[in-house]
Amino acid sequence: MKTRRDFLQKITVSALGLSILPHFVHSEPDINDALYEGPLLRVAIMGLGSYGTRVAEAMQTCKKAKLVGVISGTPSKIKAWQSKYSIPPKNCYDYGNFDEIKNNPDIDAVYVITPNGLHHDQVMRVAQAGKHVICEKPMALNAQQAQEMIDACRKANVRLLVGYRMHFEPHTLEIIRMRKAGEFGKIMFFQGLSGFIIGDPNQWRLNKELSGGGAMMDIGIYSVNGSRYMTGEEPTWVTAEETKTDPVKFKEGIDETIQFQLGFPSGAVASCLSTYKMNFLDRFFLNGQDGFAELDPATGYGPIRGRTNKGELDQPEVTHQTVQMDEMSDMILKGKQAVVPADGEEALKDLKIIDAIYEAVKTGSRITFAK
Ligand code: NAD
Repeated sequence: MKTRRDFLQKITVSALGLSILPHFVHSEPDINDALYEGPLLRVAIMGLGSYGTRVAEAMQTCKKAKLVGVISGTPSKIKAWQSKYSIPPKNCYDYGNFDEIKNNPDIDAVYVITPNGLHHDQVMRVAQAGKHVICEKPMALNAQQAQEMIDACRKANVRLLVGYRMHFEPHTLEIIRMRKAGEFGKIMFFQGLSGFIIGDPNQWRLNKELSGGGAMMDIGIYSVNGSRYMTGEEPTWVTAEETKTDPVKFKEGIDETIQFQLGFPSGAVASCLSTYKMNFLDRFFLNGQDGFAELDPATGYGPIRGRTNKGELDQPEVTHQTVQMDEMSDMILKGKQAVVPADGEEALKDLKIIDAIYEAVKTGSRITFAK
């Protein structure tokens, strides 16, 4: 029997003939919406690798988003995903034919989860096919590519969101709420430490063409992004230095360890480390004149732990990708605005900073952002 819920789940923005809605709703992620009966964001995942698999599993408990399609170059993976997630053959594509998704009314959005160097062209193609795009971080290899992707999505009248899952994480959001409420006083300092020891030397993450760089593009970006949402400011200058202890594994253009500093308009400074050479390095620390906040771990898959000068935080543990996809459904289908935006413009801001960090490493100079 078709229930009201079945009926409503079939109604999507494309079915209703709506495109991009204004961003008028601004609220916290809704992680308790058990009785949801609204529209579902129907998503195809492109790139069925390790993170794509994690997102697919997390989406099984989404209330507002559903995995309905796949794009992959590996027929055996498509077959396995089809049977695991009941994906019909008409919603399966490869990298050669996925432009045909344009003619598929049962897919609203494509989530691009491929190596970084492929994001730019794939996002442009998805936009041209008229589908909303969610793209993994880093959204592009540099700010110029990011701008082109933003422009293409705007022209195609589709949303461009980025897999910044920490923007929806409860401990993170509580610290942002406290900072906005002035509970730490004037913010003076942020420290971001992001790293892990990378394994297989032959993986795409260590291939410049596919990764765009080393640890900075992969894990250092969390400290770049975190410095912005933790302080609530955009930097005006950057300095950076690189340390390389293993030039065989970390070839030219693949950074092993970079220390970088950011200066903000208020006078606050950030001091950060990005590395492929240390494990157990995932810590954010924010200091104001009247208090502090710490997240450790700050950006792993969870559990996230947080404390402030007032004590431990006791926010709920959530599966980041489940909350992210439910929130992104609301952002795309209902025009909801995230507390911390997770769109192409945010990615552009991060990539401008990363471009400047690489420039500072190369020149040894302090890079100032044009106003
Ligand atoms: P992965 O190597 O596990 O998967 C990549 C997928 O892309 C594979 O299925 C591979 O077959 C496919 N692919 C298509 N064309 C390819 C090509 N030319 N070369 C290599 N692989 C190709 O990588 P991953 O860890 O899933 O990372 C994918 C993306 O997700 C990256 O952009 C990464 O930064 C991002 N990521 C994000 C998070 C997060 O927490 N938000 C976590 C991990 C990865």
